Amino acid sequence: MVHCDLLLTNALIVTMDEQFTIHQRGGVAIAADAIVSVGPEALSWEAAQTHDCGGRVVLPGLVNAHTHVPMSLLRGLADDLRLDVWLMGYMMPVEREFVSPEFVRLGTRLGCAEMIRSGITCFADMYYFEEAVAEATAEAGMRALCGQTVLRFPSPDARSYEEGLQRARTFIEQWKHHPLIVPAPAPHAPYTCTPEILRSCAELAAEFDVPLHIHLSETLLEVEESRQKHGMPGVPYMRKQGLFEAKVLAAHCVHVDEGEIRALKNFNAGVAHNPTSNLKLAAGVAPVARMRALGVNVGIGTDGAASNNDLDMFEETRLAALLAKGINGDPTAVPAREALAMATRIGASALHMAHLTGSLEVGKRADLLVLDLSGLHNVPAFARDPAGIYARIVYTAKSTDVVDVMCNGRWLMRDRRLQTIDEDAVMREAVERARRIDAFLGSREVSVLQKLVAVGGAIEQESFEVQVKARLEDDAHLLEALQGRELTVIRHSRYRQHDIYWSFEDAEQGRLRYRDDEFLDDRGEVTGERSRLTLTGHTREDRFGAVLLFRSRYLAPAAHSARFYREYFRPAAEHLVTKERRRWLVAYRGAEFYVHLDRLLEPAVNGFFLEVKSRTWSQRDARDKAAIIAELLALFGATPDTTLGDGYVELARASRPTSA
Ligand SMILES: [Zn+2]
Repeated sequence: MVHCDLLLTNALIVTMDEQFTIHQRGGVAIAADAIVSVGPEALSWEAAQTHDCGGRVVLPGLVNAHTHVPMSLLRGLADDLRLDVWLMGYMMPVEREFVSPEFVRLGTRLGCAEMIRSGITCFADMYYFEEAVAEATAEAGMRALCGQTVLRFPSPDARSYEEGLQRARTFIEQWKHHPLIVPAPAPHAPYTCTPEILRSCAELAAEFDVPLHIHLSETLLEVEESRQKHGMPGVPYMRKQGLFEAKVLAAHCVHVDEGEIRALKNFNAGVAHNPTSNLKLAAGVAPVARMRALGVNVGIGTDGAASNNDLDMFEETRLAALLAKGINGDPTAVPAREALAMATRIGASALHMAHLTGSLEVGKRADLLVLDLSGLHNVPAFARDPAGIYARIVYTAKSTDVVDVMCNGRWLMRDRRLQTIDEDAVMREAVERARRIDAFLGSREVSVLQKLVAVGGAIEQESFEVQVKARLEDDAHLLEALQGRELTVIRHSRYRQHDIYWSFEDAEQGRLRYRDDEFLDDRGEVTGERSRLTLTGHTREDRFGAVLLFRSRYLAPAAHSARFYREYFRPAAEHLVTKERRRWLVAYRGAEFYVHLDRLLEPAVNGFFLEVKSRTWSQRDARDKAAIIAELLALFGATPDTTLGDGYVELARASRPTSA
């Protein structure tokens, strides 16, 4: 008689091996961390301990093919937003402020507790301070592919990408031989990495023979930008950077064409399909049925809890099966058995970890779960088709039906009680952490300025300028004066300026201007473009006769679209002003002035508008320049019009009040 440490008896064993073997009655024999026998023959093993499964189903532990486990702490923080507003407006600012090794450890414990309850024994992660994820995961007894993020901009754990790369290397060196953790570099995505980062990460992964975890072709926008910038979509661009020299796990692959799917197969790249996250962020639906038909290893992932919002693989697997049917108009697409294979063995292959986990087979690690299918929602059951068990598991079972979970031969949950994580303590700490994040976001929401700073890139630049405006019937007199000897034209340019002015309930917040300039050549053709965002104080600081002193407070290069800022700031009102501007920089009486001659296109107003202005730095300088501006105006034959405020917003407001 052969000996083992533990024998699971009285079980319906769904092995999820390549032949989809099911043992209606049998056992699983486990020695140390490995499975040594499966099926009826296991029952002949002599065991130090036995565990009666009570006729329940034994399944391989589920594989969550893509997540950011510490983001469980950001669950429900911001929902129903577009991807860029969600990511750049909320996730990244909060991460910059809060993500630390302690945050990551706590979030990992919370996420692991939830995943164990949902029968997950292995997951693929990508986050910052990945060594803290690895430590907390190993403590919880779970298996994971841990991807250390590398980005082209500063992140919570690296000031530069060089530092990020070094972090990834150190992390891999330290965790390479751990029994539960497979370390990996995780270049975040093609659009957040440079070609150099992508190549370096691929080389690093190849050097240590570890997988590489990346987001790929998640949104249509990403793929369109890749086509524009690189002349090719995501997969060939990755190939060009040598990414497939490594064992790739690519999350999403929503927008990939037939050729790209074949390439993924040829390079033996795994794909993580994240149905809830893709639906919630409206990224689209990955062509899973086609990928599977062509033999790509497609696993199923929850993605982070901030975009899901839970880590429930039963929900995810069911949705993966349903979504494929709906999108293909074919109820035979991704049947239950296939979906469950994606959640187990094929998922493990996608992670390049199939030699360790994903099925109940001799030689693999003892990663499994015991599932109770006797609940009300799973009654009755039919014996006619033995394969009906897959439908019962995928379409009917819930994560709450998971009774016991084992990973690497160690019980993580017994009789629905977690063995390795103090759930109450973790929940208490998570609640406390959420309170602090709430306070941070609350303080940020009180002012437009704080929100602008939070979204990054704002430059505090207080500038004062004196300016005067006038209406002109025609431009002849002005153009003639500019040719005159009294003044010198230093520069001349011409452009079309689109201004969007946003104002807020509380007028004290000032006004935000999104400005988009199209530079024009002599023939009026567009030669270039530039966008800027300025937060301007609401009040005029001072006046010298008709000349007004204005203060502009904050300037930010507009890194995002007008749509992004509109959705992020949610202004109370919006006004558009479009003008064609001729601009001269002139020297007059020892000082420099800008002369703007505008034609208003939106709102459409006849005639010309003249603006003369100059930067200033002191009250005295402002007074002196105001006097010179008054002279210049006389020279141009113009009469000041103080009803024209800053930016023609008053005209826009009068012509067509709009509200955002
Ligand atoms: Zn992700």
